[in-house]
Amino acid sequence: MIGLPRSIYNEDHEMFRQSVRDFVAKEITPNNATWEKDKMVSRESWKKLGENGFLVIQAPEEFGGLGINDFRFNAAFIEELGLSGCSGPAIGYPLHNDIVAPYLIHYATEAAKKKYLPKMISGDYIAAVAMTEPGAGSDLQGIRATAEDQGDHYVINGSKTFITNGYLADVVVVAAKTDPTKGAKGISLFLVDSTMPGFSKGKPFEKVGLHAQDTCELFFEDVKVPKENLLGKVGEGFVYLMTELAQERLVVALAALALAESTYQITVEYVKERPAFGKTVADFQNTKYQLAQLATELQMGRVYCDKLVELHQEGQLDGANASAAKLAMTELQCKVADVCVQLHGGYGYMWEYQVARAYADARVQRIYAGTNEIMKELIARKILK
Ligand SMILES: Cc1cc2nc3c(=O)[nH]c(=O)nc-3n(C[C@H](O)[C@H](O)[C@H](O)COP(=O)(O)OP(=O)(O)OC[C@H]3O[C@@H](n4cnc5c(N)ncnc54)[C@H](O)[C@@H]3O)c2cc1C
Repeated sequence: MIGLPRSIYNEDHEMFRQSVRDFVAKEITPNNATWEKDKMVSRESWKKLGENGFLVIQAPEEFGGLGINDFRFNAAFIEELGLSGCSGPAIGYPLHNDIVAPYLIHYATEAAKKKYLPKMISGDYIAAVAMTEPGAGSDLQGIRATAEDQGDHYVINGSKTFITNGYLADVVVVAAKTDPTKGAKGISLFLVDSTMPGFSKGKPFEKVGLHAQDTCELFFEDVKVPKENLLGKVGEGFVYLMTELAQERLVVALAALALAESTYQITVEYVKERPAFGKTVADFQNTKYQLAQLATELQMGRVYCDKLVELHQEGQLDGANASAAKLAMTELQCKVADVCVQLHGGYGYMWEYQVARAYADARVQRIYAGTNEIMKELIARKILK
């Protein structure tokens, strides 16, 4: 990188960052190729993350967490995973920490917090969030899964698809209709335990990229869910989702930028070594200009993301700005991957080269967590209100 000083991180954050970097070098990078073949990371890796204090650090101490309410630590964790270029882990672990855990911390009953949070912190339980259905993705209000109130419990029926961490998941935040006549106001959120009778999982999907990520379908057939597993209030699920999606989009933006930086970095190393016309690929003016352009845009992304992390830390990140970050950083990630494949020539198209996998992995970032078209809708809504 061309490098500008960063001001939002202090010594404590940097020490934490170093410990994440050491962990990633020892436990993640050497295993990633195996996990890509297995279509998922190992359960053992989750336990090790837990043992090292990297899971749900923001959870209150009474539930076994560290009570660290400083998102810069979470951001450093995401960044270090992304810089390793291991896309599956860079998406799956933060999803557990920063996308699913907040639903429990903010809305779960005391009984549910006691049951699930300690296990999510230790890595014994892996978490997922299930909104998307075969018939409804962008249009969340169109979901058809139902949760029927049967006095002392709910009964959930329906199916969900494309669920990240789905195959390994032990606990899932599920969006379902408690009143199908009420549109958004009829949606509620529930914690579903993988041990509950009637809950089942499909096989991990064969995806274009993100091979170390277990994305699958989830099925619910008369699943009895105790009332204590309702998150917050009945009919408020859509509001909770909209509230929490700002952090989700920031997380995707941070991962996108760090993954893009790692792709850029391996390309810098590659072009310096690759001979052509009696010199190296790095010696061509085109290569220098392409890298200079990417370095400039990555630097802009870094300054931008640091500002957003700071704003989020101050509780001031709104939905439109989170959407803009997700839009900008995922587009940048795809651009960087494309240019870097080109600079690798034919080797850039070979799966054994990290740049080829980075290219395939990047593409989905513009689709999930709300497609980039939906991000533009949300940004435009703020501009034109
Ligand atoms: C690898 C992977 C992991 C995922 N992980 C999860 C997860 O953990 N949990 C979860 O709940 N979901 C997850 N998803 C689902 C993801 O969030 C959805 O795929 C995404 O929201 C798009 O929904 P859809 O696939 O139904 O596409 P559709 O909604 O059918 O969209 C199709 C196209 O139409 C466009 N479009 C739709 N509505 C509009 C509009 N109003 N204006 C303009 N264009 C529009 C979209 O932008 C897109 O280009 C994951 C998906 C993938 C591929």
